[in-house]
Formats: sequence, structure tokens, C-alpha cells
Amino acid sequence: MKTVEAKPSDAERESLQQVEASRQTEWTEHSFLRDLFLGNFRLSLIHPYPLADPERPAFTAFYEKFKEFLRTDVDPVHIDTIGDYPDGVIDGLKRLGAFGMKIPQEYGGLGLNQFEYNKIMELLGGHERGLAVLLSASQAIGLPQPLRLFGTAAQKKKYLPRCAAGAISAFALTETGVGSDPAALATTAEPTADGKAYILNGEKLWISNAPLAELLVVAARNSATGKISAFIVETGWEGVRIEHRCHFMGLRGEPNGVISFTDVRVPRENLLGEDGKGLKVALVTLNAGRLSLPAITGGLAKQCLEICRKWASVREQWGHPIGWHEANAHKLADMAATVFAMESLSHFAANMVDREGYDIRLEAAAAKEWNTTRVWHVVDDTMQIRGGRGYESETSLAARGEPAIGVERMLRDARVTRIFEGASEIMHLFMAREAVDKHLQVAGALIDPDKGIRQKLTALPRIFTYYLTWYPSRWLGWGRWPRFAEFGRLARHLCFVERASRKMARATFYGMLLYRGRLQRKQAFLFRIVDIANELFVMALCITRARRLAAAGDEQAWQAETLAQLFCRNSRRRIQNLFRDLWRNDDAFKYGVGRDVLAGEHAWLERGPMELGLTAEEMRPVSVADKLRDRGPGRKMSEKDIASAS
Ligand SMILES: Cc1cc2nc3c(=O)[nH]c(=O)nc-3n(C[C@H](O)[C@H](O)[C@H](O)COP(=O)(O)OP(=O)(O)OC[C@H]3O[C@@H](n4cnc5c(N)ncnc54)[C@H](O)[C@@H]3O)c2cc1C
Repeated sequence: MKTVEAKPSDAERESLQQVEASRQTEWTEHSFLRDLFLGNFRLSLIHPYPLADPERPAFTAFYEKFKEFLRTDVDPVHIDTIGDYPDGVIDGLKRLGAFGMKIPQEYGGLGLNQFEYNKIMELLGGHERGLAVLLSASQAIGLPQPLRLFGTAAQKKKYLPRCAAGAISAFALTETGVGSDPAALATTAEPTADGKAYILNGEKLWISNAPLAELLVVAARNSATGKISAFIVETGWEGVRIEHRCHFMGLRGEPNGVISFTDVRVPRENLLGEDGKGLKVALVTLNAGRLSLPAITGGLAKQCLEICRKWASVREQWGHPIGWHEANAHKLADMAATVFAMESLSHFAANMVDREGYDIRLEAAAAKEWNTTRVWHVVDDTMQIRGGRGYESETSLAARGEPAIGVERMLRDARVTRIFEGASEIMHLFMAREAVDKHLQVAGALIDPDKGIRQKLTALPRIFTYYLTWYPSRWLGWGRWPRFAEFGRLARHLCFVERASRKMARATFYGMLLYRGRLQRKQAFLFRIVDIANELFVMALCITRARRLAAAGDEQAWQAETLAQLFCRNSRRRIQNLFRDLWRNDDAFKYGVGRDVLAGEHAWLERGPMELGLTAEEMRPVSVADKLRDRGPGRKMSEKDIASAS
């Protein structure tokens, strides 16, 4: 094995430049995580932990109606079996006003705040998760959200009432060649000679809601400038076509499809945000938009806990309820602590969106990454505790007279949450970029291989001035008792968070000195830093929440403290391992072996099972329209076409 280190390719440089150009660089509002990365533990930003405001009667009424509708009209097992929504489900949601939950009342919506909307997502997380994705794709990342953030008054007036009345919308970024990396976006928008419109051509893949959507937000490259812009597109327009309905391992009812655009005329008034700033529209939309997933996964995890608690107390093996056997009791304890932590994170992030003066982008990314990763383990443990019944389908369980508890459906639904709305790796990269941001601002010139010696020398005074105070202060914080005495039994864990945040900031600094220009390629190092930050953040939230509940005289305060204790103990072990692995690891060796695997050096190991029967070249993605060209252009697919295509 040769020691190899990937060199940045031109394509990679271009991708990074595009993302960098669309990055929000300014930080005008508070962010706990932004400061934590620099070793500033700003307790005042999370303490007192924000508790929800008393529930508004209008919301309570909607919540109860929605819940009743789910109970009577939405059968998740039937939907999973037929892979579609029966007549009545979508119409019922429209009648309830559910497509306008996040739309202000002045435009005919329900005007729910983020916390209220997340409560609906949590409800669906324990019932029919495809509907959660449908509603979220329609209004948390679909048209209403970018419209509220970037739309003109005329656009809002035209489209928000339509969305509130039930026009389903979708957010179309992904293409066959474009997943996590938007730089290769191939859908084009060509400005017409009179400047009054754009002509859209291209194809979008895996678009949630596509087969039902009336309205789309489409990211396309302006062929005159080469820059990416966002457009409002109506699916009824000439040239928009659903090419295929996609099917997935889970979320089987959720309508998802491939859309093509052939010479679609988009009026200039439908440009969303500035021309050339489409990637920024997409990234900013996703900031709060991705907060649905922490709530959906939170609801799912809570249901897992209920299933495990009840099942483990009645299922007896070897003379005891299975929950009494230590292996299972430990799973139950960890699950309860994790659910408490997931909820603390999701509630905090939602509350911060609703309060002014807080920049949510890092916290939302952390909530998305952390909750979607944790829920996978929670569901996996649930399947283990349910044993064979966990693996059995609900229909089969019901047919032989047992309660239809759908753990296998949960597992199938949960997996994709780590892939869409920012894959876990991309969330890590996004957070890592912000973790080193201040260092790059101050000392970027010194580590940038493209900067000349003169620029490096010019930067030196600024670098010395900053680090002369910053670095010693990362050693000198006060992280010992009694600073946090008001937190009682949890104070020592808060001390740990304070000390560890400074240690993490120092480690980030050392990483920068050691790897310099190569730091952005040291993903194992950077991802560990992000994981440490996320663990510290969640620990701190569990502690402040438990404290707040105690201060409020909540009857669950004692239990909350116990769960926070357990979570912190577990988390500290994970953090200590992460710190150790920062400097003692097999990263370089492993990377070399990985590259060897790619080069085929270990292909001998693959002999035995049936061959895949494909070369790597034959696995390259292809455009759906190219494959299905014989259908003829320009016609919108009917429901029948969609059904036969699938
Ligand atoms: C059910 C479903 C619904 C969806 N809904 C929508 C929608 O409504 N609208 C829309 O636009 N898209 C949608 N998508 C697409 C989704 O957003 C993408 O799947 C996602 O962005 C990942 O892209 P990809 O699958 O092409 O993976 P790729 O980008 O090919 O990545 C493959 C793997 O490599 C990792 N990876 C990629 N780059 C790096 C890197 N630089 N460093 C480390 N790891 C890396 C990724 O994290 C991933 O694990 C949906 C997808 C699914 C499955």
C-alpha cells in the first residue's frame, strides 16, 4: 500500500468556490455553537433553557383536529402496502389547512410558529412519516419558505394564498449528476432576448411531492452568466413533465419523482431572490427548513421508547421480563436518555427560530445531524428488543392475531433521514467550515498555498495580535466548581462542557497549524471536532433543561435530572474517545487502504456470491429523459402514466 493523499482537483476547487460564494458569511446574531467552536462557552445563550410558551387555544384546536384526522383517515399500514395515499388523505389535509401551517395568517395560512409546526411533525413521526415529508417538502423547504425569505411582495401575494389553500409545492435541486455538490448543476435557464423571461431546460431527480405538486422552486444555471438562480415554476406550464415516480425502501406513500423541463418559459417575475444567488436561496431555505427532521425523528424515537418499555415488561424469557436482563435494561436506559436529549435539542432549535436575535444555522445543522443519526440507533435497538416480531411486517403480525407494531417500517422510514436535506457527511463539512471560520479569517493567508510570501508576511501582525490573547485565554477559563453550583448534581458535567470546549478550540487550532492548507481535506479530524461540539452542545442543553424544569417546579424534574445525568455520563465517554482519536488514529493508513480498495487491489475478496454483473462504468448515473425519450416531449404525465411508469 502506498501512502496517498488526495490532491484537490479543478472540479473540487470549483465546487468549493461556488459553495463558498453562496455561504452566509456574516454573523450578526447570537449562536451558541459558533462561540463554542472558539472555546467560548456562553451559558447565557442556553440558560435558562427556553420552555414553550403556553399553548394557544387556536393551536390546541388544530392539533386535536389533526390528530383525530390521523386516527380516522390515515392508515399507515395500508399506505405502506399500496405505496400511495388513498383518495381523501391529501384532500383531508387540504381541508384542515395543513398545507398552510407555516404560512402567515395574512396570506390565508394558519400562521403556526416553528415550535407548533414541529409538534405536528412529531405527531406524524410516530404515525405516517411519508406525510411528514410531504407536508415539510411542501412548506418547510418548498415554495412558502423561500418565498417568505426571498420573495417580492407581488410573488408572496400571488403564491402564498394558493399554497395556503392547498397547492402542493416542491423544492427541486437534485439532478442525476448533482447530489451533495451543486457545482455541476446542468439544468439551464436561458434569458430571452427581450429579457422578459428565461427558457428552462433540464431534469430534476428524487423530488419529493413532484407527482402532485402544482408549484416548484427550481434551481437552474443562468446560461448567460453561468451562475445558479432559483425560479418559481408552475407544473401546469407547457414543457414540464413528470418522467417517473420513484419508489424507496421506506416512506412508501410519499409521492416522489423525476421532473423534466423542455423549453419551459419562466417569466422574469418568477425569479426568486437575486439572479445568480440561487444556491444561497437553497442554503438559507434549508437552515430552518431542515428543522422538520429533528422533530419527526424525535416523535419516532419517543414511540420506540413506548414500544420497548411495554414489550420488555410483558415479554418473559428465562424466567423474567426481558427488560430485567441487564443487556436490555441498559438499552432501555440509554434509549430514554437519548430521547430526552433528542427532544431537548429539537425543542431548543425550534424555540430559537421563534425568538428574535438568534442565528440558527449551526444549531439546525447539529439538530438535523444528531437526531437523524441517533434515531437510527434507537430504532435498531427497538428492533432488537422486539426480536423476531421487530422484523415481522405489521400485516403479518395482525394476520396471526398480534398487535400490528411496525418496527420494520420504522427502520425503513428512518434510514433516509441521514441522506436527504443535507447528508450527514455534508452536515459535518458545513459545520466544520464554520468551526475554522475565525481562524481562516485571521490566519487564512498564512495557510493558503495560493498566497504569496508577501501576503503571508503582511498577515503576520494581525495573526500575532489575535492569537496572543486568544490562545492563552483558551487555557485560563474557570471550569471548576462552584461556578455552576446552581446546577446541583449536574454542575460537574457543565464544568466538563466548559473545559472541553476550550480543549476543542485548542485542538482545532493545533489541527490548523499541523495540516495548514490540507486541513479541509482532513475529514476524519474535522468530523471528530464537529462530533465533540455536538455532544457538548447536547449535554449542555440536557443540563439546562433539567435545571429549568426543576426551577419551574415541574413534576418530571427529578426524572429529567436522572436522564440528563445518564446522558452526560455516556456523552463524556464518547467525547473522551473522540479527543483521544484526534491525535492517535489510523486515519492515514485507513485512507490508503480505502484508495487501494477503489483501485481494485482487494477485489479478490469479492469472489463467492453471485456477481453484480456490472462494471463500474456501467454504474454511472444516466438521465431519465435519455432513457425514456420515446415517450415524446412536452406532455404532462397523467396519473395513469405515472402509475404505469412505476
Ligand atoms: C426520499 C428522498 C427524497 C428526496 N427529496 C428531495 C427533494 O425534495 N428535493 C431535492 O432537490 N432533492 C431531494 N432528494 C435528494 C437528496 O437531497 C440527495 O439524495 C442528497 O442530497 C444526497 O445526494 P446523492 O444521493 O446524490 O448522494 P451523493 O452526493 O452522490 O453522495 C453519496 C455519499 O457520499 C457522501 N459525500 C458526498 N460528497 C462528499 C464529500 N465532499 N465528503 C464526504 N462525503 C461526501 C454523501 O454524504 C453520501 O453519503 C431526495 C432524496 C431521497 C432519497
